[in-house]
Amino acid sequence: MFEYSYPDANGHFGSYGGSFASETLTHALVELREAYAKYQHDPEFVAEFNSELAHFVGRPSPVYHAGRMSKEMGGAQIYLKREDLNHTGAHKINNVIGQAMLAKRMGKQRIIAETGAGQHGVATATICARYGLECVVYMGAEDVKRQSPNVYRMKLLGATVIPVESGSKTLKDALNEAMRDWVANVDNTFYIIGTVAGPAPYPAMVRDFQSVIGTECLTQMPEIFKELKMANEQPDIVVACVGGGSNAMGIFYPYIPFENTKLIGVEAAGEGLDTGKHSASLQKGSSGVLHGNRTFIMQDDNGQILETHSISAGLDYPGVGPEHAWLQELGRATYVGITDQEALQAFHYLCRAEGIIPALESSHAIAYAMKLAKTMQPEQSILVSLSGRGDKDIGTVADLSGVDFYDRPSMRGLAVKGGPAA
Ligand SMILES: *Cc1c(COP(=O)(O)O)cnc(C)c1O
Repeated sequence: MFEYSYPDANGHFGSYGGSFASETLTHALVELREAYAKYQHDPEFVAEFNSELAHFVGRPSPVYHAGRMSKEMGGAQIYLKREDLNHTGAHKINNVIGQAMLAKRMGKQRIIAETGAGQHGVATATICARYGLECVVYMGAEDVKRQSPNVYRMKLLGATVIPVESGSKTLKDALNEAMRDWVANVDNTFYIIGTVAGPAPYPAMVRDFQSVIGTECLTQMPEIFKELKMANEQPDIVVACVGGGSNAMGIFYPYIPFENTKLIGVEAAGEGLDTGKHSASLQKGSSGVLHGNRTFIMQDDNGQILETHSISAGLDYPGVGPEHAWLQELGRATYVGITDQEALQAFHYLCRAEGIIPALESSHAIAYAMKLAKTMQPEQSILVSLSGRGDKDIGTVADLSGVDFYDRPSMRGLAVKGGPAA
């Protein structure tokens, strides 16, 4: 068993994490820390959370043996944890429900959030509709363009979407704007952060809400192995994509004590780890302070945040949750990169081989699992977090494939070019 008990009382994961926030937010953060400490293990809170996950989200999400893909790779068995089947299409809803339940108990009627791919915004707008809370979502103007269906979804759900025109007009700029709003409206406003980042208590709180993913796997995997008459108890390797790192922490955290299970996080290598056009903070960044915590960030020699790039808006972030920086330093988890091209290939492959359209974020984890499986034996196993579904990405994929989305003849062209996977 790997001994692990983090964060400490001040929200530190080793030298990472903590709380770097303006004085105006100190009170709000203390209030939130106290509320979370009070309700975290409160039986009524826990029961309501589990009931929401069961009836509103549709949990537990299944683990699926990707038999055809495993066979074609010719190595390890690949299993997919199907977070794509959750209501709203990704893992983000798990965390949002927990935070919205806290907001209700704290008497905050106004919710703000920031979003990159739009998935966290949709999840937040969804739960605000469900609980009758006001919802304001900040989104980089560039992402508004890249993810227009999600913008319209949020509006349908009653949220106000504010496009952010500053900086690179992506997630980090939306985050700054959300922080500014929180400072100005701290009395009646709860800031729902969508990943394991931000000042304490957010990284640990979001991890805890998301850890339902890994906790389910701990009982699902032995049952599946038994059914397949395999001797294994838990997977040899768990793989997840890392943007801010919440789906990865959610599946990793319950596995940390199981030292025979390797944990691998997959960052966006964009156009290549050596091109400067990527979002691989853990592999290419260095220690610094961003958005209220100390972690690994993409910065230049003067501490200026560098522009990042990924084919997937959800991984396009210059920082990463502080707990990942700590797990990397401890050697308990390792982090690798997958390029835009590799992710896109894996996206198409999973569509054809298994009948599942994955999110481009998740396609990074799939791509790495495919590489890895080939180097392993058939009695070994890889569990992949399929963090979300790819409906939101089909426009991006069509553009990159040179296909006109609504043009039937050219769709036929694609079918001929690609050919059936069989
Ligand atoms: C947002 C998102 C991610 C990246 O966020 P993490 O906090 O790293 O999990 C990954 N996959 C999907 C489908 C997402 O929507």
